[in-house]
Amino acid sequence: MMALAGYPLGVRCTFLDRAADAPGAQVAPILLGDLEDPARLAELAAGSDVVTFDWENISGAALAPLERVTAIRPPRAALEASQDRLTEKALFSRLRIPVAPHAAVDSEAQLLAAIRRLGLPGILKTRRMGYDGKGQFVIGTLDDVDLAWSRIGGAGLIYERFQRFSREVSIIGARSVAGDIVYYPLAANTHSGGILRHTVAPFAGAALERSARAHLKRVMQALDYVGVLAIEFFVVDGRLVANEMAPRVHNSGHWTIEGCVTSQFENHVRAICGLPLGSTRPLGHAAMINFIGSMPDRARMLRIEGLAFHDYGKQPRPGRKLGHCTILAGRAKDRGQALMHALRFVEWT
Ligand code: AMP
Repeated sequence: MMALAGYPLGVRCTFLDRAADAPGAQVAPILLGDLEDPARLAELAAGSDVVTFDWENISGAALAPLERVTAIRPPRAALEASQDRLTEKALFSRLRIPVAPHAAVDSEAQLLAAIRRLGLPGILKTRRMGYDGKGQFVIGTLDDVDLAWSRIGGAGLIYERFQRFSREVSIIGARSVAGDIVYYPLAANTHSGGILRHTVAPFAGAALERSARAHLKRVMQALDYVGVLAIEFFVVDGRLVANEMAPRVHNSGHWTIEGCVTSQFENHVRAICGLPLGSTRPLGHAAMINFIGSMPDRARMLRIEGLAFHDYGKQPRPGRKLGHCTILAGRAKDRGQALMHALRFVEWT
């Protein structure tokens, strides 16, 4: 999606990926190799004006040597801050962005101490390498502790107080090399099993949007950020509580391809290439549905008015994001109806 956004601008992408059949290989040249292979990274950097990433678990240490050869955008500091849930929360707190009460956990005794201090229910998570709900265990009562520990126990965990949220929302914005910032409308996200299922945007909530923008701006400015950044929040008692940030284009912004004047992918490309940012004005009421584990019937979906279909060309696997669709409607009510209609054809496996 980033490469496709680059073409009309005259920007050409090359990808580094472990698999020859990676989605990017359908639309751009691909270097095959491990994402942290120094030789492959050096080859990528030597042939590029700028290097970016759409997966935030690549190690900062692997990227550091490339900085002598080319620009790495977003900055490595943002990548590294987002890789560890504890440092991420420390950054948020330092910038006066509310987070769930939490504690670092490296042993079962520390977990019990954290539960005594913070209370139940809570979630035990791995601090690093967690995404799409992987490496998480909900602890409802003390009886769950042993099972949680046997599943994901070890060093490098975090225990968080469970947030009784009314909504999950995300804000996405882009910051240019010159320091200009644009914000997309707030999006409301529905997760299940830790995986994003669908998003609606714009999500009406002027006060929440103002505060989400202010939080995003503080993070971007603190990190001297360049590119697209997303922050996910819980809405608890009408207030935002930050869950995590993603220093990359974000799944909850896929709707912007059809739903905004300039998509998140194009604005990411513009930002990292030192170009001016484009308008984030929404073109209607959008909904995005992820295709997870299996693809829905294409012809059936395409009969739905205002629906755009995206097949990433991946091999189906349970829990794998294989594509998405976006519905764009003139009125929020029509968007809601089309979303309900489309959801009937989508099976998540
Ligand atoms: P994460 O990997 O942190 O994005 O978590 C995935 C999903 O799990 C979130 O989108 C929430 O739906 C849920 N979740 C994570 N942390 C919490 C929490 N502290 N309280 C309630 N739900 C949570």
